[in-house]
Amino acid sequence: MPPVFRFAPSPNGFLHLGHAYSALLNFERARETGGRLLLRIEDIDATRCRPDYESAIYHDLAWLGISWETPARRQSEHLADYRAALQKLSALGLVYPAFESRAEIARLVAAREVDGPWPHDPDGAPLYPGDAKLLSAGEREQLMTSGAPYALRLDMVAASRRVAGLTWNELGAGPDGERGIVPARPEAWGDVILARKETPTSYHLSVVVDDALQGVSEIVRGQDLFHATSVHRLLQVLLGLPEPAYRHHALIRDGEGRKLSKSSRSTGLRDLRAAGATPASIRRSVGLG
Ligand code: GLU
Repeated sequence: MPPVFRFAPSPNGFLHLGHAYSALLNFERARETGGRLLLRIEDIDATRCRPDYESAIYHDLAWLGISWETPARRQSEHLADYRAALQKLSALGLVYPAFESRAEIARLVAAREVDGPWPHDPDGAPLYPGDAKLLSAGEREQLMTSGAPYALRLDMVAASRRVAGLTWNELGAGPDGERGIVPARPEAWGDVILARKETPTSYHLSVVVDDALQGVSEIVRGQDLFHATSVHRLLQVLLGLPEPAYRHHALIRDGEGRKLSKSSRSTGLRDLRAAGATPASIRRSVGLG
């Protein structure tokens, strides 16, 4: 079976040099190995994703000389797949609804920090500080039927208890040079959100479901997602999904050493193109000359 690669951008802004680097690496790995390259549009966040950003993705990738199998998979068209995975995790007793708003969470964290530092996840966000896990079935039922918004969270303690010696095979490198068989530490993320009342999925859930459904065998993506791989491995094991290999690559940074953002115009592919950049000059500027 030929290896399967994917580039999986979110259409919530225009692609920049970092995306070009990631897409080109995937394209080249697929060519080098006689593999397939898929494109996945990660558009589950309806409030931030826009059709014009999606068309720009197709246009920018084609301009770079990248080709992929069509049609691209659009996550918003596959909510039933994520709902099924969520139900599987619920049936294992690993999912609970939490009703706190962002502001309430911030207040709870501040209250906990009175007694000392409260743990933060690898992305720097405080771990979920609430105790919605302890609500009785009746209390949950009542809150859910009252129409209150909620997030469905993974009970990380119970989930981690079901898996032992969780690792992944890192073919690239983590931010601290981690490579080879790397231990996964999903506990560092606390009770992550798997879905919300109005959306039956989250980034973590849809990415593992799609990678498995699409038969992705090697995941080439930026080091900013290195630590998230711990959560992805945990979900793969809980859902009985196959284990892909991971190849995390260094991030392209701006002149001040900052990670690129979709709002920064100076590194956006369409602005660079308008200013005279060519596919060859883009390749050179990401070190693939
Ligand atoms: N959609 C994610 C992003 O644009 C990438 C997901 C992944 O490669 O796993 O950052």
